[in-house]
Amino acid sequence: MRPRPRAQVLGADGAEAWAAAGLQKTEHARCPGCGGNEAFYHEVQTRSADEPATLFLRCVACAHQWREAP
Ligand SMILES: [Zn+2]
Repeated sequence: MRPRPRAQVLGADGAEAWAAAGLQKTEHARCPGCGGNEAFYHEVQTRSADEPATLFLRCVACAHQWREAP
């Protein structure tokens, strides 16, 4: 089976797609949409390697997506 491009996996709907992309799950998030604490997340290095990575989160309960800059 040919592996799908990572961007396509992340663009798919559903928490399962995110989990399949190897994302981690946290129970210490704070969803701006529903106030839920469970979210999938992944880190993206936006600038140089010296700077902290930006955290992208997706709520398990309502699928709201947001980011947290360090
Ligand atoms: Zn939510």
